[in-house]
Amino acid sequence: MNSKTDFLKNYTLSGSELSILAYPHATLSKVASEITDYSDQLVQLAKDMTYTMYQAPGIGLAAPQIGKSIRMFIIDVGFDREEITCADGTEDFVLSNLNPMVFINPTFRDGEGEIIYEEGCLSLPGIYEDVTRFNKITVDYTDLDGAQQSIEAEGTMAVCLQHENDHLNGKVFIDRISLIKRNIIKKKLTKKKKK
Ligand SMILES: [Zn+2]
Repeated sequence: MNSKTDFLKNYTLSGSELSILAYPHATLSKVASEITDYSDQLVQLAKDMTYTMYQAPGIGLAAPQIGKSIRMFIIDVGFDREEITCADGTEDFVLSNLNPMVFINPTFRDGEGEIIYEEGCLSLPGIYEDVTRFNKITVDYTDLDGAQQSIEAEGTMAVCLQHENDHLNGKVFIDRISLIKRNIIKKKLTKKKKK
């Protein structure tokens, strides 16, 4: 039987590129709703989000970032990216070792240890800050078929999962740094917008 998660195995880049919302868009600070309908449209959205994440490129993308306030995100913390120069002199990149994962309605448990990691976000381009999170975490979630899954993650993957899950709760990574630093960043972003 065909599974809706089949496209994730031996993944090849395909889909439409969605536009990514920039902070402080209102959708980015909303708590996203539970997914109950495991439809073909949801699969298509997951495919387009995966494609968009790789095009950016980023190691994670949550549905609120593309304007859908629903509890789903994509991650891939292990792919390779090689810069190339095309025959006409333009710069491009080639991605390999793609291993995307889709998480729906995730819940987190058994957080352990601490890791400080310099995070960035596709919705806050050019901003990088150290954030402290659990180093090890277990995530229960459903896949695109609606089947219950569970995964234990450590290090970069644990960081990425917690970062993406924050998006489902209306938070971005700068909400986890000091108020002073956050205000400096907010000022910078407003200036950028005015330009
Ligand atoms: Zn993000």
